[in-house]
Amino acid sequence: MNECREVEALLGAYVDGETASCDCDRVRRHAESCACCRDLLGAQRAVREAVRARATGLRACASPRLKARCASYAIRRRSTPSRLPRASPGAFVRRWVPLSVAATLVLAVTAVFGFGLNHKVQALAFQSTLDHVKCTRFTGGGPPADPLEAARQWQAKFGWPITVPASSGASNLQLRAVRRCAVTDGRVAHLIYTWMGEPLSVYVLPKGTLGDATEFVHRFRHNSVMWSQNDRTYIMVTPHGRDPELDRLVSHIRASAF
Ligand SMILES: [Zn+2]
Ligand SMILES: [Zn+2]
Repeated sequence: MNECREVEALLGAYVDGETASCDCDRVRRHAESCACCRDLLGAQRAVREAVRARATGLRACASPRLKARCASYAIRRRSTPSRLPRASPGAFVRRWVPLSVAATLVLAVTAVFGFGLNHKVQALAFQSTLDHVKCTRFTGGGPPADPLEAARQWQAKFGWPITVPASSGASNLQLRAVRRCAVTDGRVAHLIYTWMGEPLSVYVLPKGTLGDATEFVHRFRHNSVMWSQNDRTYIMVTPHGRDPELDRLVSHIRASAF
């Protein structure tokens, strides 16, 4: 497990081909024997490729705030030894896509909110699945969490209310943890459950950015299911395939997230 944590820190540089700052052999060897890290690596690669493919559109609709974030990221990046040449201030807009997975992740979802519905759904699926794979790999067991208490603590800490769908013996669903994660430009609530022995995530975004209809996206061997209701956007991520059980679970979550 320690090896997984250490390798995870190298994945960004590895995917970026920054061989100077990455022990590539170590990453390659570990990914051959560890399915979990292989998944994460595959997800990072796919995100990077998708962002590259849409680079022109992403550049065109970046907000000033987003550009500022990319600039500060580029500055931090330059303070560490790297093969990247120094950029003049302002030049990052032309160079941001090759920068790194971390930067492109920020860009991908934020910028895509200026796009049509299909792009939004795809971008949310990318980023939530990546976070799901990262966040749940060390959150397997642990005692069940109390949904009401978790919702109360969330509002006290972050100032906006969420409803946390309860565990359900009938659905074999158990809440494990609630944490704050970066899935869009802002921070979102990440509710971590186990469902039939597998990790399941429900992300709650503080605004309703999608329609009421349920959207399904299959990516990186995971299903993302998303919709908006009552001024919130919900994204469920699970490795479970699409079947009647998954449809029933979606109904349960929708009914309890008011
Ligand atoms: Zn691993
Ligand atoms: Zn998370």
